[in-house]
Amino acid sequence: QAKRQGRNRAVPFQNEFVDGVSRRVQLVAELRRALERDEFVPVFQPLFDGLDRPVALETLVRWRHPERGLLLPGEFIPVCEESGLIVELGRRVLDEAARHYRLLADAGLPALRVAVNVSPAQFNDDLVNHVRDTIKAHRLPGDVLELEITEGLLMQDPERAIELMRQIVDMGVSFSIDDFGTGYSSLAYLKRFPIDRLKIDRSFVRDLGSDDDDAAICNSIIGLAHALDIRTVAEGVETSMQLDWLRARHIDEVQGYLLGRPMPFEELLPLLMRHVERARVAAAL
Ligand code: C2E
Ligand code: MG
Ligand code: MG
Ligand code: MG
Repeated sequence: QAKRQGRNRAVPFQNEFVDGVSRRVQLVAELRRALERDEFVPVFQPLFDGLDRPVALETLVRWRHPERGLLLPGEFIPVCEESGLIVELGRRVLDEAARHYRLLADAGLPALRVAVNVSPAQFNDDLVNHVRDTIKAHRLPGDVLELEITEGLLMQDPERAIELMRQIVDMGVSFSIDDFGTGYSSLAYLKRFPIDRLKIDRSFVRDLGSDDDDAAICNSIIGLAHALDIRTVAEGVETSMQLDWLRARHIDEVQGYLLGRPMPFEELLPLLMRHVERARVAAAL
């Protein structure tokens, strides 16, 4: 009843705040239970090189909620980060990514990189150990694994980040900067870190055809990255116009709905098989 009234009335700030807090507390309890019940599942989005070949998969987590259906990370990752649950969730996702890589490799498919998003709270000695254990447990070639981190993480404690990254890179693993361009770091600054790739944030890709500023930003990111020997990836490619524009500027890899949506593992297999078959036919011609 209070709710019905609240809709037509100005709700005092205090109540809204208390509501928000208790909703959050409830969500944390629910997330804990979801971890216990194994309700988090990975989906995989393919990345393609300049010749339209799938070269990598990004692992993206979903929450298979018993009542609300499949939930996107935007609904629960922020609370996982605040509550520290992201550490356990991140371990599960990394493990699932490695397990699925093993399934693909055992099915005889060509090796793809497998990328996993890593939150700042996960970035400590534990991650180094967990990466080492995961590589071993799933017989994962180190160079197959890619960790996606954000600029913010590198700004917090650069010296420590470099130290941890070096230990992980020593296992063959590579790093990419996710959502590049949305933070405050310059490429010159990033060069201090062992980074293989920049993923240009999809907000710059979206208006490539219509916004000259976005085009200029993409252009200079690609140019400078290449000059510094860093590969480039465009996120959120939805149109062939965007794809053509980026390829004309020698973008190394593209990811987006145009070429492949995030999908469950079962759908990934036929997609990859089709590409293997296409390559076989092309080689025979
Ligand atoms: P992200 O790492 O930048 O991942 C790319 C996001 O863009 C994904 O959203 C993907 O579904 C979406 N996307 C891909 N192509 C297109 C496109 O063409 N158009 C549009 N509009 N969107 C596209 P998603 O799956 O909702 O994930 C959102 C964010 O949640 C991710 O952004 C990542 O930061 C975070 N996230 C996802 N899984 C994990 C995880 O396992 N651990 C952590 N720490 N974060 C995760
Ligand atoms: Mg990512
Ligand atoms: Mg991104
Ligand atoms: Mg992101």
